Amino acid sequence: MAKNEFDYDLFVIGGGSGGVRAARVAAGEHDAKVGLAEEDRYGGTCVIRGCVPKKLMVFASGYADVVDEAKCFGWDLKAGPFDWHDFKGRLNTELDRLEGVYRKLLKNSGVDTFDARARIKDPHTVALSDGTEKTAKHILIASGGRPVRPEIENAELGLVSDDLFHLEKLPKSILIIGGGYIACEFACILNGLGVEVTQYYRGAQILRGFDDEARGMVAEMMQEKGIDLHLGTNILEMTPSHEDGSGPMKVKPTNGTEKMFDQVLFATGRRPNSDDMGLEDLGVKLGRSGEIEVDEYSQTAVPSVYAIGDVTNRINLTPVAIREGMAFVETVFGGNPTPVDHDLVPSAIFTQPEMGTVGLSEEAAREAGPIEVYATSFKPMQGAFAGKADRVLMKLIVCADTRVVLGCHIVAPNAGELIQMVGIAVKMGATKEQFDATCAVHPTMSEELVTMRNPTRTA
Ligand code: NDP
Repeated sequence: MAKNEFDYDLFVIGGGSGGVRAARVAAGEHDAKVGLAEEDRYGGTCVIRGCVPKKLMVFASGYADVVDEAKCFGWDLKAGPFDWHDFKGRLNTELDRLEGVYRKLLKNSGVDTFDARARIKDPHTVALSDGTEKTAKHILIASGGRPVRPEIENAELGLVSDDLFHLEKLPKSILIIGGGYIACEFACILNGLGVEVTQYYRGAQILRGFDDEARGMVAEMMQEKGIDLHLGTNILEMTPSHEDGSGPMKVKPTNGTEKMFDQVLFATGRRPNSDDMGLEDLGVKLGRSGEIEVDEYSQTAVPSVYAIGDVTNRINLTPVAIREGMAFVETVFGGNPTPVDHDLVPSAIFTQPEMGTVGLSEEAAREAGPIEVYATSFKPMQGAFAGKADRVLMKLIVCADTRVVLGCHIVAPNAGELIQMVGIAVKMGATKEQFDATCAVHPTMSEELVTMRNPTRTA
């Protein structure tokens, strides 16, 4: 497929999940000549400073309760302290291994890699920070996003999620600003690891946009586990103890009570990495948050330039970026125009307990109505036996006319695993009666999803 007029058939900017997948499928399955530039570590946000290290920290923090729980099941165990230094060493070894896997996948697919930053010079030319230029028939931007801090004085002294994996030691106390995925996940992780966690969220309830009942339950459980969650509260000022910016921070919140924290973490959203890439000059259109505007085939306003993943700010999840990358390859190299399906994407928030969700929230479904809501909340067997207060939620939103299950929301240990499976049925358009026709697996938490006979409410 190589065209002699260009160095490459495809040049990919960004070695994260989306870019790597597109590069190696184009090269490996379509024989395209592919180059890829990455200025940081291969694997991108997900592998190096997001999903993967985060999930390993979720596992680490999950052991906090194990000893007490095991005792209730007859085990004679004694808890010891958590050793951050030891864990961080193992974590780094694992991330090094995964980065190696990503590099090897590219190499084995025949992709040329450049450890350099890339700017687009014209619709078919990429200029690399090593001083070279590469021409390509198609350019794919998969440069991801980065955390942003709010515009308050000294904000640069606060941490963002990238920094958490590099801490020399865990702080004794931390203030987390924000109520999204990252704020809530790290509140739970750090709380589990023994850090005193305070969380300020400016809105009325954390996890805006998710099902109200489910997010209310997550908030309740987080508080139950010891997170000092303040709703309707934001940070006004932060002042370091010492002039050089070191030491605990004095924080003035909107509710007036000043408090000291060892660290402040800003989990206040992310911004697409579209700056200083020559995009405006090229004619690539950017949205208000800096996201690259693309059509359903991920094509930008410049026909030879495509963009996928977080830099397009559609649904900012690794599996979605990967699908966008695959659809791009199928469209451009497979000769089969393939729009990306962004409908009914299941996702999980790795709080403790986790929240798994697919489809419409009760609130969104009501707008389209009429609906039936089936919901049950109970103490799961394992925790209840150990005397824990934890409850779980299993909830289905059903269209009253078609009987189709429009949404499912689970708050429970391993809800991420559960929602993956429910997601298949919901994506297939299963009705409530088809859920009911499925025999329960007993005793499990999720059997409730096929045994709820009467609606809890209708709307
Ligand atoms: P989110 O957009 O989810 O949350 C940002 C939070 O910060 C919101 O609560 C927002 O409040 C608040 N906020 C924004 N600006 C300010 C400000 N100036 N002052 C105070 N609070 C502010 O971003 P995240 O960074 O948590 O996550 C980014 C994306 O990454 C997610 O949307 C998700 O797609 C992905 N992600 C997915 C995960 C998963 O699948 N498990 C895990 C982590 C990230 P408000 O609600 O009022 O706007």
